[in-house]
Amino acid sequence: MKLNNLDREIRLLCPTCGCTDFSYDKHNENELVVCAKCERKMSRRDLFDENSEVINETKNEIASEAKKQFEAEMKKMLKNAFKGSKNIKIK
Ligand SMILES: [Zn+2]
Repeated sequence: MKLNNLDREIRLLCPTCGCTDFSYDKHNENELVVCAKCERKMSRRDLFDENSEVINETKNEIASEAKKQFEAEMKKMLKNAFKGSKNIKIK
C-alpha cells in the first residue's frame, strides 16, 4: 500500500518579517538560524515554536489525507478480494 502526495513542505516564516528564507548551518543543529531579510537571529527551537500553528495544521492535513487514501485503498482491496464471488456485493 502506498500513500501518495503526502510529502509536503512546511514553510517556516520569520516571526518578524514573514520571510521564508533563512541561512543556517546544516551540520550544526545548535547554530542560530538567521533570517535572510531582517537578519533576525533565533534558535531553531524558537523558529519552530513561532511556527507551531502552521506545523500542526500541516500535520492534521496529512493525517486526514492519509486516512482518506487508506480507506479508499481498503475498499479496493475488499472489492478485489471478493471478485468472482457472486454472493457478496460491496457497495
Ligand atoms: Zn525576518
